[in-house]
Amino acid sequence: MPLPYLLLDIDGVLIPFPAPDGSTPPTHVRHTVLPTGRHPDDPVPIWLDPSQGGILTDLLTSGLVTPVWCTSWRRDATTIIGPLLGLPDFPYLDLPRPQITTSHPDGYLWKRDHVDTWLGRSPAVWIDDDFTGLDHAWAAERTARGTPTLLVQPAPHFGLQAEHLAELATWVSQLPTARAV
Ligand SMILES: [Mg+2]
Repeated sequence: MPLPYLLLDIDGVLIPFPAPDGSTPPTHVRHTVLPTGRHPDDPVPIWLDPSQGGILTDLLTSGLVTPVWCTSWRRDATTIIGPLLGLPDFPYLDLPRPQITTSHPDGYLWKRDHVDTWLGRSPAVWIDDDFTGLDHAWAAERTARGTPTLLVQPAPHFGLQAEHLAELATWVSQLPTARAV
């Protein structure tokens, strides 16, 4: 079995959403960035936990997974977010740009059809804060068909936590290829 892909979201994962009072986690450092196509007079504030840079780099370079950004930041993930965290360069999915007003236009995450096609029959662990029950059912069906698929879902206001990476590590260690090594 090939290495599993690690699909990594950003908003709600590496950049937690603000609390109702507008506050962001004290662990996260604010930056101001200019996404592609954004007017220079209208930059975007973001916040990242610098301690996650090293932790994620260890994972991304572990040889246990093949990382791919899966985020509406698209290429900006590789040119803005990754470098701010000191992450190694890795590819991004060029997600479609549907005209939608909800992230679940068909009851499941809008990214999923593209991801499903792109993955083919490759195993995958996908970290995103925005899965629905239909996405979890999709992952369970893939797994049942012999394609191990794990969805890791941080809470959007807290983002990625150590427990999520522990869950990922446990899952990877139990894959057939990992056991055979
Ligand atoms: Mg998200």
